[in-house]
Amino acid sequence: MTRLHNFCAGPAAMPSAVLERAREEMLDYRGQGLSVMEMSHRSPTFEAIAAQAERDLRDLLAIPDNYRVLFMQGGATMQFACVPLNLLGQGGTPNYLDTGIWSAKAIKEASHLAGAHVAGSTQGNGYVHVPRPDEIALSTDAAYLHYCHNETIGGLAYDYVPEVDVPLVCDMSSSILSAPFDVSRYGVIYAGAQKNIGPAGITVVIVRDDLLERALPQTPSLLGWKVYADNGSMINTPPTYAWYLAGLVFQWLKQDVGGLAEMEAINRRKCEALYATIDASDFYANPIDPINRSIMNVPFTLADEALNSTFLEEAESEGLLNLKGHRSVGGMRASLYNAVSEADVQALVTFMRDFERRRG
Ligand code: PMP
Repeated sequence: MTRLHNFCAGPAAMPSAVLERAREEMLDYRGQGLSVMEMSHRSPTFEAIAAQAERDLRDLLAIPDNYRVLFMQGGATMQFACVPLNLLGQGGTPNYLDTGIWSAKAIKEASHLAGAHVAGSTQGNGYVHVPRPDEIALSTDAAYLHYCHNETIGGLAYDYVPEVDVPLVCDMSSSILSAPFDVSRYGVIYAGAQKNIGPAGITVVIVRDDLLERALPQTPSLLGWKVYADNGSMINTPPTYAWYLAGLVFQWLKQDVGGLAEMEAINRRKCEALYATIDASDFYANPIDPINRSIMNVPFTLADEALNSTFLEEAESEGLLNLKGHRSVGGMRASLYNAVSEADVQALVTFMRDFERRRG
């Protein structure tokens, strides 16, 4: 068996130790005589798996007691609709920061419902940095401020937490669990699983409990955060196997990695090795302002675009997979999520230096 170097933006690499554990437990979960995916979500065994996953996530992120953790479906994209539906019940205008493709999609969805106010945007300079604090201007009746912490396609991340006196809502799909952060600064945090949490199919929402009372009355029950909070995220059949795998990833982070501070140190070494390789050459380039470079997603271009397909073919033959940039921006992108190891990144930079020497 060979596991190659997987730089996919999502669904992304999973820790091998987690997959091995899942394999061991696949047919007979801890002497129960059946697989987790064959169990009732209402069985005591699955309820214990679900509760343990929540406890481990709470430990990892030091989530305060007045926050509820919800496990939903529909991906982060469904949350683009859930955010205005669940937060506009007391009126006001949804406010958004615009830093690229994912925040723009969230703005579009809110606009359908309520007409969003863009409180800051760096579109004018090609999204090479995020709005500075003094460039953020909320509307007078702001109901909340939404931003995307890490733009997965652009490779752009915030270096600070916006300070506002309305609930702060954050799409952390591609950065959650990559480093510690202070949950109490936020009203709502959400993230699709398929980068740092687990396989696709489950979405984590962390919401301050006082915000559960603000839904628009017409909110469909399956989109209402309070319904999930009141029913242990089991209003209908949840994606049980994805939930179980997410729980294994949380245990891996706690026990094997040693927590999020350790994870951050590893992640910083990984991205620094790659950015250093890019910056040391005229052959590779990354346009992002260094203070806003993502530690998770590193887009880069080749000086000679005609070499793009050769680069990708040769990389693949070296076992370096999924380096093609998003179709909207072209070039390359290496996603360095938690399960991508320092050895994976070392293999990539060795290949890049070699390719440059031969073709540059
Ligand atoms: N937000 C961000 C930052 C993302 O990276 C993605 C997926 N790549 C999404 C939202 C959409 O997620 P999903 O496909 O889970 O709906």
